[in-house]
Amino acid sequence: MDLLANVQGKLAALEAQSLTRRRRIAQSPCAPQQTVDGRAMLAFCSNDYLGLAAHPRVVEALREGASLYGAGSGASHLISGHSRAHALLEDRLAAFVAPNLVDARALYFSTGYMANLAVLTALGADADAMIFSEALNHASLIDGARLARAGVSVYPHGDVAALAAQLEASSAATKIVVTDSVFSMDGDLAPLPELLALCERHGAWLVVDDAHGFGVLGSKGRGALEHCALRSPNLVYVGTLGKAAGVSGAFIAAHASVIELMVQRARPYIYTTASPPAIAHALLTSLDIIEGEEGASLRAHLAALIAQLDDELALTRWQRPVSHTPIQPIVIGANDEALRVAAGLHAQGLWVPAIRPPTVPANTARLRITLSAAHTREQVAQLAAALNQLEAM
Ligand SMILES: *Cc1c(COP(=O)(O)O)cnc(C)c1O
Repeated sequence: MDLLANVQGKLAALEAQSLTRRRRIAQSPCAPQQTVDGRAMLAFCSNDYLGLAAHPRVVEALREGASLYGAGSGASHLISGHSRAHALLEDRLAAFVAPNLVDARALYFSTGYMANLAVLTALGADADAMIFSEALNHASLIDGARLARAGVSVYPHGDVAALAAQLEASSAATKIVVTDSVFSMDGDLAPLPELLALCERHGAWLVVDDAHGFGVLGSKGRGALEHCALRSPNLVYVGTLGKAAGVSGAFIAAHASVIELMVQRARPYIYTTASPPAIAHALLTSLDIIEGEEGASLRAHLAALIAQLDDELALTRWQRPVSHTPIQPIVIGANDEALRVAAGLHAQGLWVPAIRPPTVPANTARLRITLSAAHTREQVAQLAAALNQLEAM
């Protein structure tokens, strides 16, 4: 069995580098207090930034959506699976992000991964197009760029001058700059105003993946574009709905013509079964919360927790990259040490994942703490104390 020996050799190599990943089984809803592998844990690892994943109103809306629309959609959007719930959600999303876009329309996708494949393959469909991709972009953007026929040029993290030089030197017919807004393993923000100014000067699209900003950033929760007060016809916005919105899916919002091109040409949109309408129905309630007073007070509480963690952590050896978002990395370095610290937290009932290459660059294995408005001040204090103590050991 040479075939099997080859596979097993690859697994053994991962194990030897402390790169084997293991899934834990969550036995209760996504919330700070969870039962995981049969044990009560305090979790700092979800992207449920506003605590909507188990919010009673959202859960009830999902139940109601199932009563109204059934369990499944039955087909892809262009065949017969496009339900009233999807249409209502797209209209709500377009209206929500409209202040930051010109002639906005929105298109709902089953996942952010697929939305990113769609946006880059549709805009970058031609061989004479060029995608300028930020070095720390999410894997789904990297894969979208690989799948597109366009050329790909990677610019260093946060380096606007390097990007400017690349744009200057390029004779591509269509230029597409693509970046995460909030970097998913570091929590820092892309220099969006500078990037947009460059894109406008060079007639380039700016595709912004706001997976970690939608619902969280901006006083209304519209995300990174609101936070940076940007508005431009060059912007193509990707928001995901399985993180702060607490449910599942994603959307692309842009000028109506860009969205129409996606409907006509984007294969990750066309060749897949539409997600259950009940999910879209539940997301209408998520949006009610995000846009309303409750959303504003959840964001205020989350901001207070981020400031509290910053105050209470007193680390000297491990690195803390600057982050004002709910993603709070602690860079430890070696894979095995990151795993050891995560295990030390786990022994105290604290669940913080160790993130290792290839998700992050070599020798930057880290703990990735994510805070949620569902956490209490006491829970954050408990985490900070445990980390301070583990670092000193
Ligand atoms: C989570 C994430 C995605 C993928 O979204 P899903 O809806 O989970 O598929 C895309 N981009 C970034 C930056 C993300 O963090």
